[in-house]
Amino acid sequence: MTVRTRIAPSPTGDPHVGTAYIALFNLCFARQHGGEFILRIEDTDRVRSTAESEQMILDSLRWLGLEWDEGPDVGGPHGPYRQSERGDIYAEHARKLIESGHAFKCYRTSEELDELRETRKAAGLHLALKPADLALPEEEVARREREGWPHVVRMHVPASGTCVVDDMLRGTIEVDWAQVDAQILLKSDGMPTYHLANVVDDHLMGITHVLRGEEWINSAPKHQLLYEYFGWPMPTLCHMPLLRNPDKSKLSKRKNPTSINYYRRMGFLPQAVTNYLGRMGWSMPDEREKFTLDEMMSHFDVQRVSLGGPVFDLQKLSWLNGLYIREDLDDDAFLKALRDWAFNEAYVRQILPQVRPRVETLSDVMPLAGHFFSGVPAIEEGDFDGVKLGREDLVKLLQFLTWRLETVPAWQKVALLAEVKALAAHFELKMKDFLAPVFIAITGSAASTSVMDAMAILGSDMTRARLRHAIAVLGGVSKKQAKRFEKEYREL
Ligand code: GLU
Repeated sequence: MTVRTRIAPSPTGDPHVGTAYIALFNLCFARQHGGEFILRIEDTDRVRSTAESEQMILDSLRWLGLEWDEGPDVGGPHGPYRQSERGDIYAEHARKLIESGHAFKCYRTSEELDELRETRKAAGLHLALKPADLALPEEEVARREREGWPHVVRMHVPASGTCVVDDMLRGTIEVDWAQVDAQILLKSDGMPTYHLANVVDDHLMGITHVLRGEEWINSAPKHQLLYEYFGWPMPTLCHMPLLRNPDKSKLSKRKNPTSINYYRRMGFLPQAVTNYLGRMGWSMPDEREKFTLDEMMSHFDVQRVSLGGPVFDLQKLSWLNGLYIREDLDDDAFLKALRDWAFNEAYVRQILPQVRPRVETLSDVMPLAGHFFSGVPAIEEGDFDGVKLGREDLVKLLQFLTWRLETVPAWQKVALLAEVKALAAHFELKMKDFLAPVFIAITGSAASTSVMDAMAILGSDMTRARLRHAIAVLGGVSKKQAKRFEKEYREL
């Protein structure tokens, strides 16, 4: 048997370090067994998936040196590798499940579903809706079908009992069937849900081992049941521990930069980031901290993964990156790293329109555009003295903007401008006054290049990191303030 593993990202945002971490472990597992590593794009969420996000994911993983044997860009014998191009395959498999009596068409309306859930809640029952709860009299189903009501396809699930799932790291996991609902497999628009598409594809693509984040444990019983229904062997499962913030909460962009783009923009070396990700819950047999991808592949043993939530710590990563710069890069390699990072034509060209209208000599360029080539600017509380806003409003403005920018789907100037305008209106400030503190937070000075363009060029995580830094410089947000802010923000 050839070991085949995969990474199956959903292209719905910035390329996440968690994706790279799971990709790395799948790659190492495959290579250690002389196997193959596949990249599949799970873009069944047609509203949130974008081609830009997919491209960023491919670029980032490749930047980190995590190469795949089959995928949407390199092809392979099991394509297409993009779920949006496999619609017929899922429809066919859903039909088979209906025919074998393992799935059913459900014509329930969303109002009916809400009512059913309410009734269960009132009776103190678990909220999972079972096939029996959803059933309608036969004539009613026939009528709705005849009249062309929208419907979904759901899977049958046992009403009670225990489901036992095996996990390479966790042994057996037991889940009470009562908690598992009659999962939707095909949505009313005919698109599959994650569960159906994932199981069908893992089988058809010959995946033998699934290493994925622990947030998917609850899906495992449904997947196991689907494999049984289809009569297919189930890949071996391994749920990896989630990456955590230093305070042990789940790694989130609210507290930490999570986009690989950020680490790239910040000037981390890809080999250091990959090495650091390899240290997430795993260690080399001799416990050394610094190792190459090849070394990790040849010494890999999944049983060395420890389940105590690994902390993704920026300071540790910076320390490791420093080691790489000092120990591994000679002048030529350092020069190349600088070029790859920011001193290259593509990046400098983005900045030219920002600086040309504002300089008299070429030596004016660096002081003016330094913020495009740095991390968080060295600012102080006093830098905000010229801003005509009370301290609380100032911090609130920066905090609201940070939150608002978390949800921008496509990081482009027009979209950013729309958010800024909306918030300026909320604060009843002219754009210029609203942007004054943002200017300092992002560019590090009160007069520089256009701040909106700077945010667009710097990217989402770098922008938010600078805003968070400015908030911290201003004394941060107290717990009480946070509560007030959150309430007001929700009402926006
Ligand atoms: N598309 C899922 C994700 O975004 C894949 C989960 C899995 O590996 O099964 O993480």
